[in-house]
Amino acid sequence: MPPAPTTAALAPPSGRVDLKVGFACNNRCVFCVQGTKRERFGARPVEELRDILRRERPRVDAVVFTGGEPTVRRDLAELVAFARDLGYRTIQIQTNGRMLAHRAYLERLVAAGATEFSPALHGHVAALHDHLTGARGAFAQTVTGIRHLKAMGRFVLTNTVVTRSNYRHLPEIARLLVSLGVDQFQLAFVHPVGTAFTLFDSVVPRMELAAPYLMAGLKVGLDAGRRAYTEAVPACLLPGYEACVAEKHIPRTAIYDAEATIADYTAYRRDEGKLKGPDCGACLHDAECEGPWREYPERYGWTEFVPIRAPAAGGGAR
Ligand code: SF4
Repeated sequence: MPPAPTTAALAPPSGRVDLKVGFACNNRCVFCVQGTKRERFGARPVEELRDILRRERPRVDAVVFTGGEPTVRRDLAELVAFARDLGYRTIQIQTNGRMLAHRAYLERLVAAGATEFSPALHGHVAALHDHLTGARGAFAQTVTGIRHLKAMGRFVLTNTVVTRSNYRHLPEIARLLVSLGVDQFQLAFVHPVGTAFTLFDSVVPRMELAAPYLMAGLKVGLDAGRRAYTEAVPACLLPGYEACVAEKHIPRTAIYDAEATIADYTAYRRDEGKLKGPDCGACLHDAECEGPWREYPERYGWTEFVPIRAPAAGGGAR
């Protein structure tokens, strides 16, 4: 997702490294892109993680600790401190947010050098979030974690995965995020790989049905003065909200995954992860648009993606 403005503020985004520290997780989300990796891969050895952090530091000054769920590692605070001591300026914890409910644990991560937290909230009520995450009590913990972060004055950027179960509630989710004081939120269309691919028919909504709710959710955030983005939804489905397309703002990222390293995630998305349609060449957004995740049109076709031939009435992007 786009970085927080604290360190990247008005400067062009520099690169960052996305470090998957292991695939264990205390949630079992119906849309998990990691699928069965939790059963196939253990935690990445700490020395391997340190080597990656050392190797990448001359090239980047931002690291995202992710997984799996990074907070299930007992040595996460030590890894954060190691990154800080190497000179990483931005150290983000991308998390389901449950462990952040424990204030003392959160304070330990901050003291170790964590500068940003990106918890995930997928519902406006416990029944919805807990259903999607497969974990009873997860909603209460993540909301408590966000409250702790804001009470500590931290910048909070959240992620919400858009699925069949929650897309109609995106405006209510956005209102909750605003009321919690979240500084930036992203509504990310589900990526149909891993568990999300296995459960495709029950998890992946039609984008044209979700788009009005997405835009309504974005409006809630923008009207409240927050930074609001959507990911993996092409601009042709977001008239007037083209500036909220997250891909335009994601910095160059290297991803250390279980089986491979992706040196440039932007190039990977364009070359392998996403697809453009047969009519996209006629669209105003063709040059900068990445298209949807490829699994979506492979299942649903291209009829929803209609080329834009003139800027949206009223000036287009907000
Ligand atoms: S290039 Fe294609 S997918 Fe992208 S906005 Fe235009 S029509 Fe939609």
